[in-house]
Amino acid sequence: MNSLFFGPNGSGKGTQGAIVKKKYGLAHIESGAIFRDNIKGGTELGKKAKEYIDKGDLVPDDITIPMILDRLKQDDCKNGWLLDGFPRNKNQAIKLDEALKKESMALDIVVEILLDKEIAKNRIMGRRLCENDNNHPNNIFIDAIKPNGDKCRVCEGELSSRADDQDEYAIGKRHSIYYNDTEGTLAAAYYFKELAQKDSSIKYITIDGEPDLDTVKNELISKL
Ligand SMILES: [Zn+2]
Repeated sequence: MNSLFFGPNGSGKGTQGAIVKKKYGLAHIESGAIFRDNIKGGTELGKKAKEYIDKGDLVPDDITIPMILDRLKQDDCKNGWLLDGFPRNKNQAIKLDEALKKESMALDIVVEILLDKEIAKNRIMGRRLCENDNNHPNNIFIDAIKPNGDKCRVCEGELSSRADDQDEYAIGKRHSIYYNDTEGTLAAAYYFKELAQKDSSIKYITIDGEPDLDTVKNELISKL
């Protein structure tokens, strides 16, 4: 099962992706990790990518797409893959689709997690980290995991927030790319949605990201 996952920052996309990955034995392919591995491994594509990254420029698609394809052909992807963080815009969606077809690689499932922008922003800003354990979820804006006063709801540990999570400007910038439905990430998702309407081998699934994680997870698994 080969799949793409779309969802705004704050939608629980990472958590839901991990559940699907585990259930179906998929390789979780994260686009950022592909860059790091290629640069570390000193591959030709990695060297080219590094030149752009060092200048603070975006790596062009004609470097990114072959890197992703290389990764999807590796052994751990034989049972299928879940590509996370790519494509980020419509142009990349078109190019990825072309590249997959060229390699005769099937795309089976595309998941889109729906979440209102304002709610997504609050969820990011509401995250609190427990000093004792990163896996103790606390969020002042999510009832199911609200801290106990100002302490961790699991262990009463001290809580803090990550600086990135409080950076409204950065969150807004990321969200403006995601929610752009003409050129941005939503446009990429809709490109595959249209493909799925014409091609019954692709299943396009939309999930309501607003309920608690377990409800979202159950809806997702029931639709897969
Ligand atoms: Zn804790």
